[in-house]
Amino acid sequence: MLIRISTALLLVLICSVYSCENIELKDKNPEWVIVIHGGAGTILKSEMTDEMENAYKKKLSEALELGSEILRNGGSSLDAISTAINCMEDSPLFNAGRGSVFTAEGKNEMDASIMDGATLNAGAVAGIKTVKNPVLAARKVMENSPHVMLIGKGADEFAKNQGLEIVDSSYFFTNRRWESFKRANKNKFGTVGAVALDMNGNLAAATSTGGMTNKMKGRVGDSPIIGAGTYADNKACAVSATGHGEYFIRNVVAYDINAIMKYSGVSLKEAATYVIMKKLKEQGAEGGIIAVDKAGNFVTVFNTSGMYRAYKNSNGFSEIKIYGDK
Ligand code: ASP
Repeated sequence: MLIRISTALLLVLICSVYSCENIELKDKNPEWVIVIHGGAGTILKSEMTDEMENAYKKKLSEALELGSEILRNGGSSLDAISTAINCMEDSPLFNAGRGSVFTAEGKNEMDASIMDGATLNAGAVAGIKTVKNPVLAARKVMENSPHVMLIGKGADEFAKNQGLEIVDSSYFFTNRRWESFKRANKNKFGTVGAVALDMNGNLAAATSTGGMTNKMKGRVGDSPIIGAGTYADNKACAVSATGHGEYFIRNVVAYDINAIMKYSGVSLKEAATYVIMKKLKEQGAEGGIIAVDKAGNFVTVFNTSGMYRAYKNSNGFSEIKIYGDK
């Protein structure tokens, strides 16, 4: 009991000391919620043109609306997040699907994962090169294979056999990512992710990425690792992460937030703030998460200057944001 109270006090203290965006809806439990992200990193207003800002907001709004429409019609959280992520994967703005960053060899190798909070079923792919929408490949692994993760050629072949759209590797190339690769740009994030709660009370989370610019060939980050970049459990929350993947793997971030909630009984806001703003920050790890809990409370927390993010719930609460609040 004493441990539980002191943990809660510590987490409350951390929340008040560090700045982050946390939204908790306490008025009326929403029937459904969707939260999406398009990556966290050094995103500064001073370095963004109005044109770019509008393009990001427009695409986030489109992805959010596609996901919301599914939830509004009683569809599943899994369908909502897959559809929202597909929309961002198809856009060259984000580091996922078309527009993915390059490995040190100048190639695109993509990772994705998805998890169903109702069953704890999960699917993931890593190092894939030809599947147009990596998150759909992860979903096929979850639904149509006895495994959780497939990698490389085996994953590409499985996706093809499942009837997913296969493209030439040139499809993923964008000039913007190529230029930033050549400059070894430090602004290397841009992963996409989504979490949702549907009308049946089911949570789901998914994440899709090209990884980190200039990564070694064969490197796998946190995004396809269940527990690190993605986790969903109806008993606690659904989480999708973005940031410096190696730290997110070492700290098992998405599962840690779930476990803190489950075992100590603190709120989602307190658990997520502790992990991102204290634990990761102390290690020098940059990034953030989006998450929604079983009651429909949701948070977006990041220790970087910005995170592309948007949310909407059945109570009519909706926002699209890019920069930090401070
Ligand atoms: N977490 C991703 C990775 O390390 C990168 C990102 O979120 O931008 O592969």
